[in-house]
Amino acid sequence: MPLYRDEAVVLRTHKLGEADRIITLLTRQHGRVRAVAKGVRRTTSRWGSRLEPFTHVDLQLAEGRSLDVITQAETLDPFHARLGLDYDRYTAGTVMLETAERLVTEEKEPAVQQFLLLVGGLRAMSGGEHPAKQVLDSYLLRSLSVAGYAPSFDHCVQCGVEGPHRFFNPSAGGVLCASDRLPGSATPASETVTVLGALLVGDWPVVHAADPRHLREASNLVSAYLAWHLERGLRSMAYVER
Ligand SMILES: [Zn+2]
Repeated sequence: MPLYRDEAVVLRTHKLGEADRIITLLTRQHGRVRAVAKGVRRTTSRWGSRLEPFTHVDLQLAEGRSLDVITQAETLDPFHARLGLDYDRYTAGTVMLETAERLVTEEKEPAVQQFLLLVGGLRAMSGGEHPAKQVLDSYLLRSLSVAGYAPSFDHCVQCGVEGPHRFFNPSAGGVLCASDRLPGSATPASETVTVLGALLVGDWPVVHAADPRHLREASNLVSAYLAWHLERGLRSMAYVER
């Protein structure tokens, strides 16, 4: 079987047979890959915790007929070890993994930007420099943008006129001016729209200076925007307090 190397983040694992697991990975060069880890559930497993969700690993894989097989794994960053100590960061991180899996829809289609975004997001989530909810919101807005659903928080998505605009509609893809507003649009505070723009570009000083009320309103709009673009809701989102 031909071998290849790649680095990856472990997104999810599930049981296979008596002692094996199927590991769902987001790799740097090969996009989403599902691969078998043999013997990983034995107590004497040589894999240790290297193939647990959140782990950033360097892998060697053997191409298989249906699933590839993991033949070597070295931990690059054990994000799970640090995230596991903090419930908010752990649950928000879980939403990131599920989002990455859902937005990278094709197996073995390179998705380098999504990979880099996820690694950067997990690093920020485990680093603790910024609040967990805002790291998550920033990641969600950026990963949706990379997937082709970039929201607009300054120009009206219909006519392109520069804002600030009062109306936000997930189905339209962002803010709308008064003449283009759609029925059912949210009318967030202007500070909330500013926060959303800052989360999208990672302007952390603006995020840190924001009022908790506006951060909360921004989180709800990010959730609505994400829900609109994913066919089914995220299971993991139920555990994140919004
Ligand atoms: Zn307009």
